[in-house]
Order: sequence, then structure tokens, then C-alpha cells
Amino acid sequence: MDGRIHSLESFGTVDGPGTRFVVFVQGCPMRCKYCHNPDTWSMNGGQMMSVDYILEQYHRNEAFYRNGGGLTVTGGEPLMQMDFLIELYGKCKEQGIHTCLDTSGIAFNPDNSGMMLKFDRLMPLVDLVMLDIKHIDPEHHLELCQQPNENILKFCRYLDKKGVPMWIRHVIVPGITDDDKYLYDLGYFIGQFTNLKALDALPYHTMGETKYEKLGIEYPLKGVPAMDKGILLDKKAKIIEGIKARRAEMKDSSTN
Ligand code: SF4
Repeated sequence: MDGRIHSLESFGTVDGPGTRFVVFVQGCPMRCKYCHNPDTWSMNGGQMMSVDYILEQYHRNEAFYRNGGGLTVTGGEPLMQMDFLIELYGKCKEQGIHTCLDTSGIAFNPDNSGMMLKFDRLMPLVDLVMLDIKHIDPEHHLELCQQPNENILKFCRYLDKKGVPMWIRHVIVPGITDDDKYLYDLGYFIGQFTNLKALDALPYHTMGETKYEKLGIEYPLKGVPAMDKGILLDKKAKIIEGIKARRAEMKDSSTN
């Protein structure tokens, strides 16, 4: 089967553990103000590529992925192409390839039984989910991404129930996602999940701005400075404080 693909990258080092073959899919329903890949938004662009073609490309450089790497699908939003993902990850599993899914979780919908059947088929084929939580607060999330976060947060719970290892990623943007209260709340929320394996606090950068210019789209964060890496560490510490607080509470309630 074919997927709608934006591009392929043979030596990814920031999209999961080890060196990875990275598949950037085309199409995303979110409109995150800090998105640095607005060229992946359109559901019609990109090019169609078959699962077999993608795996052929993977195997050309297979030796490089033996350092604990594998294959990552990112985007765009991979979950907009569920049937393609099920086939791709199914074949990866047959071939012993480590699979990682980098997603915003936006397509998760527990009220859609047809979609949930697909999620139930997909998840046993995924070794690691890297879930980007854009904002923990519903209103700020809507303002930042033009989509609600309710089902994204439910997706965390679902992954925990299914025992799928989860990394949480959070982009810290000055004046937009750097409020200590919300960072703590994010930590407090994810701290309850036993499948939480890592936390990436990512600094906002302005490198995407030129892509907006080329596409003729006004850059929504004009004038917002890149995130200072020193401050980033303090912000990450706030999230960790929330995680620890939640875990301490859970420990207390299980021993009482
Ligand atoms: S979910 Fe990712 S690709 Fe989609 S708009 Fe947000 S940052 Fe961009």
C-alpha cells in the first residue's frame, strides 16, 4: 500500500534512539504556531510511496541502524494514515526493525469505534511513541494549535493501558509555553503514567520562519525570540517537579 510522503531521511539522530531512517509523512490537521514544517500541512502534497519502496530504502543503509536505531515515522501527522502505518510497522516487525512513532496524537478518538480498532491493531507494532504535548491547558492548546487537547491527553492514558513505552516531548516557547504553572501541571499529568520513559524539553527556534516566507504564509510568532538553552533547563526542571509530585502522591496513596 502507498503512503503520502513528504520526504525520507537516512540518518536521523533526533527522532528516537540511535541512528534512524525517518519517514516524514505529508498532511497534518494541527496548526501549531511554532511549527517548523508548514510544508507538511497540506493533505494533498508530497508523493505517494509504497511500503515496500520505503523498506528497500531502509535496507540500503541498514548497517547504520544497528546501534539501537531503527525506523521512525513523523510528519506531518502519521496517524492521519493509519492503514499505511499498520502495513509499514507490520512489515518492520516481521523484519526485526525497531519502530518509533512521533506524533501529536491528534487523530486519537475513543468515540470512533472504527478508528479504535485501527489503534488496537497498530499499537502492538510500535516499540516507542514519542508524543508531543503542545500545551496542557485546553484553552491555550486550542489557541496555540487550533485543535483541542482532550483526546491527546486521553491518548496518553490509552498508551499506558496498552503498555506502549512513551517519550513526552514539549517545545518551550518564550511567553507561550514557558509558564511555570502549566509546566508543573504537565509534569503532574504525565507523572501518573507507568509507561513514561523519557521527557524531551525542546527549545523553540526560529529556523522555520523562512519556510513560511517561501509558502507565502504569515509567520505567527514573528518577533518571538529563540528559547535560551540555560532557561530551558529550569523549565524542564519544573516539569520534572510535577512528575515527582504526582509519583510521590501515588506512592503515598498505595502505602496508606
Ligand atoms: S503537529 Fe507537528 S507538523 Fe503538525 S502543525 Fe504541529 S508541529 Fe507542525
